[in-house]
Amino acid sequence: MFYTSTRKQLEEITATKAILQGISEDGGLFVPKTLPTMDFKLKEMLDWNYQEIAYRIIRLFFEDMKEEDLRYCTTHAYDVKFDSDEIVPLASIKHANFLELFHGPTIAFKDMALSILPYFMLVSKKYNNEKDDIVILTATSGDTGKAALEGFSGVEGTKIIVFFPEDGVSDIQKQQMVTTVGDNTFVVGVKGNFDDCQTGVKEIFGDVDFKKELADKNYKFSSANSINIGRLVPQVAYYFAAYAKMVKAGKLELGKEMNVVVPTGNFGNILAAYYAKNMGLPIKKLVCASNTNKVLFDFLETGTYDRNREFHLTSSPSMDILISSNLERLLYHVSGENTEKVCELMKELKEKGVYSVTDEMRKNMADFYGGYADDAMTKEVIKKVYDEEGYLMDTHTAVAYSVYEKYVADTKDETPTVIVSTASPYKFTSSVMTAVSDKYEGIDDFTLLEEMKKLENGYMPKAMDGIANREIKHKNVCEVSEMPQMVRNFLV
Ligand SMILES: *Cc1c(COP(=O)(O)O)cnc(C)c1O
Repeated sequence: MFYTSTRKQLEEITATKAILQGISEDGGLFVPKTLPTMDFKLKEMLDWNYQEIAYRIIRLFFEDMKEEDLRYCTTHAYDVKFDSDEIVPLASIKHANFLELFHGPTIAFKDMALSILPYFMLVSKKYNNEKDDIVILTATSGDTGKAALEGFSGVEGTKIIVFFPEDGVSDIQKQQMVTTVGDNTFVVGVKGNFDDCQTGVKEIFGDVDFKKELADKNYKFSSANSINIGRLVPQVAYYFAAYAKMVKAGKLELGKEMNVVVPTGNFGNILAAYYAKNMGLPIKKLVCASNTNKVLFDFLETGTYDRNREFHLTSSPSMDILISSNLERLLYHVSGENTEKVCELMKELKEKGVYSVTDEMRKNMADFYGGYADDAMTKEVIKKVYDEEGYLMDTHTAVAYSVYEKYVADTKDETPTVIVSTASPYKFTSSVMTAVSDKYEGIDDFTLLEEMKKLENGYMPKAMDGIANREIKHKNVCEVSEMPQMVRNFLV
């Protein structure tokens, strides 16, 4: 199995090469030349644990990885750093089933990919005879940075540097990052906003002299952002796990179809569901849930993608996105692998901020259903589900739940459904607690953690337990202009 770019047909790019490279030189994203089909029976899956399912799915995409190497990746990624043996447990309430993707070290779903990506990189280095240490350089608005830090912490042959806006992340997010352990981790607060951090990182990536300086010291930059195929593929696995769990829980008859509802930002998570469906997993509808930044909802309704609109800061910040980069991969598939068409659309997006797909392409997207929920609707369902069922949803999951209710009301579709839960309520404590009751208004995040613990019958995820008292390991703060020097300080 080889990979190609969404913008130009390439020859003979292996999976491990695509992982090391991250993005294609023509600006396109790496996609498998043809999507694999599942080579096992649904019934067999019922006996597999998560590590086995992950192995069985990923091997179909990353064919150049040997069995022992891939098994090394799956067993090291999905281990005791998850606080559930099941890795992705299914939680059911009266009217809904949630696939909880938040039991990893940073209690959000990015852990599913970022805990395995470092191991993919090690294997990829070995196969491609890359001797240099890989230096992951990331700017973060909060969540991705910590997930990447946890993933790469202690992984030999890699180093990770994270820049975050000193005054632009929540107190809990900051505490999570600056208490990260591991000699190969480096965290720096920047006196500027997220865009400043992002621009600073891009400049470092683009600085040819700097690159050479580092190459002389046997370092090579790479990035862990969500367009790397090594982040997308492991996400396909949990849809198979969800299916098996639904059957085992008696919610779904083996062989019948299920629907999935996915809270969407960069379109990675829901694209993984689309891949699972195309591999043969019986999925009927892919329900794409957006918040007030409903560019994807409008796209699915009209066939026109238009980013020229006001940007809203919402209570589900990880979905506050106007350019969903992984959508480019869907365009490639639904256009019949037409790289010229993808180039044309991406050019229009870049130059005008808007493009429209053909009727044929729209027809090929008929399995997607779009919906959205604003902050008021999100708040309302958090309270309702908690009051009626005692189940606490985070804001992103609540967006999905709200859209699920609307989908059922609209279509009367009674297909068993899995709602993908992308974050623990502990990650968005303030929004969740004030949705439950006004009495939590104006209380700081660290106190609210303790209050939430009472609502959760004494349960608190390991990631949050005692976080206020952890030792601060990273005290670096710098000006935007000093970012390259900080990188030198760490690496030399
Ligand atoms: C990143 C993120 C999302 C969006 O996922 P995409 O793959 O970018 O669509 C949703 N919820 C949470 C909590 C996230 O961190």
